[in-house]
Amino acid sequence: MVLRFFNTLTRKKEIFQPLMKGRVSMYSCGPTVYDSAHIGNFRAFISNDILKRALEAAGYKVKHVMNITDIDDKTIKRSIAEGVPLSALTKRYEDLFLEDTASLGIKVPGILPHAVGHIKGMVKLIQKLLSNGYAYRTEAGIYFDISKSKGYGRLARLKIDARTRSRIESDEYAKNDARDFALWKFWTPEDGENSFDAPFGKGRPGWHIECSAMAMEKLGETIDIHTGGIDLIFPHHTNEVAQSEAATGRQFVRAWVHTAFVMVDGQKMSKSIGNIITLASIREHGFSSLAFRYLVLGTQYRATMNFTWEALTGAQHAFEKLQNAFLELPKAKGVISTSYRKKFFDALVDDLNTPKALAVVWQLVKDKKIAAHNKRATLVVFDEVLGLGLKGLKKDPVPKEVALLAAKREEARSAKDWKRADAIRAELTTLGYEVMDTPKGFRLSRIG
Ligand SMILES: [Zn+2]
Repeated sequence: MVLRFFNTLTRKKEIFQPLMKGRVSMYSCGPTVYDSAHIGNFRAFISNDILKRALEAAGYKVKHVMNITDIDDKTIKRSIAEGVPLSALTKRYEDLFLEDTASLGIKVPGILPHAVGHIKGMVKLIQKLLSNGYAYRTEAGIYFDISKSKGYGRLARLKIDARTRSRIESDEYAKNDARDFALWKFWTPEDGENSFDAPFGKGRPGWHIECSAMAMEKLGETIDIHTGGIDLIFPHHTNEVAQSEAATGRQFVRAWVHTAFVMVDGQKMSKSIGNIITLASIREHGFSSLAFRYLVLGTQYRATMNFTWEALTGAQHAFEKLQNAFLELPKAKGVISTSYRKKFFDALVDDLNTPKALAVVWQLVKDKKIAAHNKRATLVVFDEVLGLGLKGLKKDPVPKEVALLAAKREEARSAKDWKRADAIRAELTTLGYEVMDTPKGFRLSRIG
């Protein structure tokens, strides 16, 4: 199977070829664990998951690394504001992130390095950049000198004019160039207890160096695929490239795969508008996480996705229809339809065209010429990439005990005994069921 993806570096759809035959090294920028991730973040994680599953379906062994950013400005600020140790804060949001990830059917990457646990590698990398002249010291920290970096900004197609480059701030402690970025920030009282010793002074790493150090430590100096949301192209990925290539003299990443934004009702999600949507709010509205995954698959990852509650309602209905259709199919051993398999993978390997792949799924479901057990066998193969959990579906998924509890909760709710209703909800959660209240009454679904 030949896969083609759009490479941000070349701005072209390219045939994917890894450095080592049959093996792929893949790095994804993970969450900054200071708050709940929003649906824009999760869209990018879902498309990384589809990419990995597509590579695996094509026979590659994928070594997938995703970092956990547990020390940066945001995590420190939040931990100090809440008066909790940094590690307690980041653990809370990492656990939440991993729960959400599992409920979305995302296969957790095999290697999840934490920035705090990899300071040594970052220090070493910064020392290298200091010794080869790419970094310099100011009163505030160690900075990367972009004027030394050949081809800086190539990934983001930045235009840097001579004036920007040669401008030197009059303040002797300031950065040499407004675009120079911190590799290491020296300790200030705002950092509280969050600092590390380094030969060049006590402090903490900058966000960009964290990813470079962890990516190269786990996957080597040149990586096949690096992913992230398009908002990371500049400055984060641009700076990752500059400092990694300055340190090794080699190409850092061969293919960059970026996922586009999620808009909400046609607007950019932002704290100031107050339209940030999390997975928790999706579930509170009575939708399952997998219905959101289904909705995400309906847009190709490079196109901007517009989230509306109507669209999610449509996705949930379509997804339930698919689940019911799948449950009707007999489990007898079937043969995979080669023509449908070809159509499905042709769509998928063409820059992960998931909307087209979903259309093939529906064509197959409706095709009366394909025997039911063969249909099932084919759908199981498709779902290994789509990750909608079809194979694990059970016809009567709700045990009596669970149904009874749910009914008791409904009683408590009509009696306005919210405390009891909440206690029963918690009990249902421990039994592995999520109860959702919809305008048409409650609905139970399995968690995960
Ligand atoms: Zn990163």
